[in-house]
Amino acid sequence: MHTDGSHHHLIIIGSGPAGLTAAVYAARAELKPLCIEGIEAGGQLMLTTEVENFPGFPEGMMGPELMMRFRDQAERFGTTFITDNVTEVDLTAQPKVVRIGTTTYTADAVIISTGATARMIGLESEQRLLGHGVSTCATCDGYFFRGKDIIVVGGGDSAMEEADFLTKFASKVTIVHRRDQYRASKIMLDRARANPKIEFAEWAEVSEVRGDDSVEGVVLRDPRDGSERELTCEGVFVAIGHTPNTSLFTGVLDMDDNGYLLTQRPYTSTNIAGVFACGDVQDHIYRQAITAAGSGCAAALDAERWLAAQGFASSEGIDAAARNEGTQVTA
Ligand code: NAP
Repeated sequence: MHTDGSHHHLIIIGSGPAGLTAAVYAARAELKPLCIEGIEAGGQLMLTTEVENFPGFPEGMMGPELMMRFRDQAERFGTTFITDNVTEVDLTAQPKVVRIGTTTYTADAVIISTGATARMIGLESEQRLLGHGVSTCATCDGYFFRGKDIIVVGGGDSAMEEADFLTKFASKVTIVHRRDQYRASKIMLDRARANPKIEFAEWAEVSEVRGDDSVEGVVLRDPRDGSERELTCEGVFVAIGHTPNTSLFTGVLDMDDNGYLLTQRPYTSTNIAGVFACGDVQDHIYRQAITAAGSGCAAALDAERWLAAQGFASSEGIDAAARNEGTQVTA
């Protein structure tokens, strides 16, 4: 086994708003964090177009540009990045071991911010129009569909919640579900059924999203007999669930039934000392960039205080960094 010998106070795995905020705080505390950002760096905001609800950007900002700014800020204060995927970890060892292929990195503490991946239907047309009428986040993109007819795909609580929310903007929302039984809780289903702007299309699978540069409609296939029909719409919200990116940690870190990491709230500590989790990998409720960023800040503070208590690093750094957040710092 090749070991490059590189040891760090802190390794951050993942580079969405949570991981990069943790990196900013840890770097300003002079922990010189190593962020292993993944091959698809930047997280789910890289798949969105305009972000209008991130405070501090009143004109809005493109998702990828916002993430580039997060990254620049983390780099400015001394975060090192590796653009690759972690393949294996040993978190019970001390120092903790993080591997990328045959290269081994060690760390006194680890922050996990590997996020969650929105499940997609799996169509080429769905991928091509993602961010151009196809979305996985009603809270992020609903505003762009004022006065339009849209569909929400799914039959769980997410689909009901998103459909209900989207009726604030859309003229009509059709919930498209592949059967006539719903996973959604009765209260959420009843609320959607009582909403005059919501219609249901049952026994309907989306087999194609129509449109070249923007969504013009969908083809719906009945799974019982394979018959197809078209439905005109300008937006497709895919709400068929998320999968937390936690396969690296199976059997080691405590998770809920859906695979989300469990933390010792209100702290970000996991069941292993010196291992912290933030962002969507431990949150299936809020799933916003700003809440992820907030938990990333908390994870950096928790990690630094843990490192200081173990004698690995001084707590003066991060406490000073946190206190100084309103003062001007020159690069
Ligand atoms: P979910 O409960 O797993 O439901 C996913 C839905 O998507 C199912 O109806 C499923 O259909 C459908 N689906 C899956 N793959 C599909 C595909 N390839 N094509 C078409 N349809 C597909 O996921 P969720 O709704 O995201 O909820 C996840 C968890 O979060 C649940 O525990 C839920 O209660 C919770 N949650 C709670 C709230 C709330 O309380 N406010 C809000 C959102 C979520 P089938 O039923 O046919 O498999």
